[in-house]
Amino acid sequence: MAKNIIIIGAGIVGIATASYLRRDGHAVTVVDMRPPGEYTSFGNAGILSPGSCVPQALPGVLQKVPGFLSDPMGPLAIRPAHFLKALPWFLRLVAASRLSRVEQIADALRPLLKQTFDAYAPLVQNAGVTDMIRQQGYVVAYSSREALQRDALPWKLRRDRGVVIEEIDGAAIRQKVPQLAGSYVAGLYLPEQGHVTNPERLTKALAEQFQKDGGKILQRKVLDIEFSPEGPRALVTDAGHLPLESLVICAGSHSNEFTAKLGDNLPLEAERGYHVTFSDPRFTLPMPVFLPQQKVFVTPMEMGLRIAGQSEFAGNDTEPNYGRADVLSKQMQAIFPGISNVDATKWMGRRPSMPDSLPVIGPASKMPNVWYAFGHGHVGLCGGAPTGRLIAEMIGGRPTNIDATPFGAGRF
Ligand SMILES: Cc1cc2nc3c(=O)[nH]c(=O)nc-3n(C[C@H](O)[C@H](O)[C@H](O)COP(=O)(O)OP(=O)(O)OC[C@H]3O[C@@H](n4cnc5c(N)ncnc54)[C@H](O)[C@@H]3O)c2cc1C
Repeated sequence: MAKNIIIIGAGIVGIATASYLRRDGHAVTVVDMRPPGEYTSFGNAGILSPGSCVPQALPGVLQKVPGFLSDPMGPLAIRPAHFLKALPWFLRLVAASRLSRVEQIADALRPLLKQTFDAYAPLVQNAGVTDMIRQQGYVVAYSSREALQRDALPWKLRRDRGVVIEEIDGAAIRQKVPQLAGSYVAGLYLPEQGHVTNPERLTKALAEQFQKDGGKILQRKVLDIEFSPEGPRALVTDAGHLPLESLVICAGSHSNEFTAKLGDNLPLEAERGYHVTFSDPRFTLPMPVFLPQQKVFVTPMEMGLRIAGQSEFAGNDTEPNYGRADVLSKQMQAIFPGISNVDATKWMGRRPSMPDSLPVIGPASKMPNVWYAFGHGHVGLCGGAPTGRLIAEMIGGRPTNIDATPFGAGRF
């Protein structure tokens, strides 16, 4: 039966969910204080990686943190003022780094992300933007064989779940990506992975098509939820009340502000990342490159060459520290010697990160007609369309195409 559904959030997860629900014939309204795709979904690395089933925290994570934090060029930063607030989240992250739990998390993530291309296909075809999706694979480059061997576990976790990974030497790396510095001597090639050429434009194109197909988007800030004895009955926004029948929370790193009101206290952190886009690098890349030692991706995009990475814990609302983006710029000069940084632009975004690296996808624990779709951390672009499809199956009362139990809100 068709329902009236309001979605909070017009990032890639909210728009993909809205698109799938609209395809099922529901009356769908998306509410966001920003235009579609202008928050975290604006500036990610654009990687569509069905193989990204490995959680952020692996065994031994605790031993690595001091080294990361003390390195000014390192990938991790925690603002001292935010440390105590984030401590319970970090304790859960460490608890999720046990090998047995890591295996379970990878088992849950792989079936969701495996459908990345398949789940985006009907949406991009309908919106006429199939050209934005590329599947040329990506190259992983290490500066030594020992460094590659130290990362054996994350690659094994992927291989064990059917991800195709080819080992390549320095010569093969340069054959695939001739522009890379000569210092990369060991690497991998993952042929089934891909990227989008402009994550912001993808979200906007899907949003535009959703509206053409009869969906509504309202630009408003949601301030509160009003309740009747039966459950939520209206959204309080900066432009009046919106009566509510069914609600989906897709508010990215702000989602727990709403779930707390709905009776679910969920551990969500804004894991801030940065990008620098070199608009005129004087060359282009045939495919993205992942540099695991720096934990950065470099992706060829229609706006230029983008380097993205860094994990900064400082809450949602503190000012960006563009010193973190300067770290990325310096790394880019080493990865691609001689690259021109004229007109390079910097950006900060907030990954909605759960401590176990699993998104929350499914019904609210305590409220009827409320659904959650957030917390995709590093893989929200890959996970956007698969999540939309899953939520549409759940709301439609159909059997889900994968086991969604591991994504339940009740796991905390
Ligand atoms: C540097 C970086 C690189 C990344 N690279 C990749 C990658 O290569 N591949 C990948 O899959 N993922 C990547 N990610 C992660 C990915 O970008 C995110 O997981 C994804 O964008 C999250 O989408 P979302 O729709 O959940 O959230 P968002 O895009 O943040 O959207 C949430 C929306 O909710 C709205 N909202 C919040 N509160 C309110 C309110 N009170 N009222 C109204 N609206 C509200 C916001 O305005 C926003 O538009 C990267 C992230 C970063 C930071």
